[in-house]
Amino acid sequence: MPEKSERKVKPLQSVRGMNDILPREAEFWEGLEQMIFAVFKGYGYRPIRLPIVESTPLFHRAIGEVTDIVEKEMFSFEDRLSGDPLTLRPEGTAGCARAVIEHGLAHQAAHRLYYAGPMFRHERPQKDRYRQFHQIGVETFGLSGPDIDAEHLMMLASLWEDMGLNESLDLQLNSLGEPEERRRHRADLIAYLEKHIDKLDADARRRLHANPLRILDSKHPDVREICADAPRLMDYLGAESLAHFEGLRNILEVARIRYEVNPRLVRGLDYYNRTVFEWVTGRLGAQGTVCAGGRYDGLVTQLGGKPTPACGFALGVERLMSLVRLDGLIVQELPLDVYVAHQGEAAFSWALQVAGNLRKEGMSTVLHCGGGGFRAQMKKADASGAQFSIIIGDDEAATRTMQVKALRDANFGQRQLALPEAVKCLYAHIFETDGKEL
Ligand code: ATP
Ligand code: MG
Repeated sequence: MPEKSERKVKPLQSVRGMNDILPREAEFWEGLEQMIFAVFKGYGYRPIRLPIVESTPLFHRAIGEVTDIVEKEMFSFEDRLSGDPLTLRPEGTAGCARAVIEHGLAHQAAHRLYYAGPMFRHERPQKDRYRQFHQIGVETFGLSGPDIDAEHLMMLASLWEDMGLNESLDLQLNSLGEPEERRRHRADLIAYLEKHIDKLDADARRRLHANPLRILDSKHPDVREICADAPRLMDYLGAESLAHFEGLRNILEVARIRYEVNPRLVRGLDYYNRTVFEWVTGRLGAQGTVCAGGRYDGLVTQLGGKPTPACGFALGVERLMSLVRLDGLIVQELPLDVYVAHQGEAAFSWALQVAGNLRKEGMSTVLHCGGGGFRAQMKKADASGAQFSIIIGDDEAATRTMQVKALRDANFGQRQLALPEAVKCLYAHIFETDGKEL
């Protein structure tokens, strides 16, 4: 046995399927998120922040026992002291509905909410399918008509428009009706599938009596073939469900939102009723669903609250980012504005003031740290990507001035300026104005 110190230590790495989002990428995310939140706010939606860990039974009750998520994808563990079963949230709707019930939000006026954050599913990691991934979600409580379903779709359509993605994403729509309608359809569907049991794969057979609707969106070619002639849920919908669906379709026509009715669209979670939808793209390979959602009128009661109609959606941030990279308008990266180099004690305290003034005017400013001569500092300034550098030595400190140098514009040269002039000049160049606002 080698000595302990000689044994090869495995380098520490992030957990499989859970990624670091490095600064370049993170800046891009922030820009995209801010843009999306601004659209939501423009429609009167308000943010809610929810815990990442919830009690396990919440997901069993909300999502359903015979679903991919609950059967095999949850990160669950026991609380070390109480032994309570806990789970890293695999999605946001269950926790949001729980919070709405717990804080009585459902009894107040209709609520339009949005949230963002990491979700966790124990899946086989591949491109755009991770174990920690991120969703931005919207949920609305207290509204039962198709107008709010349509509002969500219109809001998303305008988002895609802003991002330059409306040609890349297609809306698929379906109605799952009401539980009673589904029960009648289910009986006929099981009877039909039993007649073709030899063509069903193991997954479909297992689901046959537990969750036959899910068989309809199987990827297995034989199963798909059988399902093409299976009883269609749409034919079992009652007058009210049909009217809701028609109502939604009418608003989408008026709003000129392109969609396709996909009778096979059933969604992977049990809580949906009536409207379900997905925005899909052919541009990302197998992971083509970028955003998905629908109505879940029964969920709040199922979790112990008073009857509260509700609907919502979640968009997968990683997939949206991949698509924006391929097809979208480039979200411009914001370069650093100014790098302040300084040498000597008096220069340092003057540089502190200068940097503070620039930041107050909205210019991103790095104040050099770590000492060293001007040559080395200017190398760092250049590598920082900053547009301008400011150089402050003893002379500048004594005269309360600075050398302003453009790092990417040969015509600008180097200028010795006092603080007000420097701020004005930099502001005008960086924000491409004539500086009159100041
Ligand atoms: P899929 O069929 O791709 O597994 P899903 O039906 O399980 O998706 P939802 O629960 O509807 O997905 O989640 C909404 C969105 O979140 C998806 O459309 C997708 O963009 C994203 N998403 C879901 N699971 C993952 C994952 N493991 N990694 C990355 N994004 C994901
Ligand atoms: Mg899934």
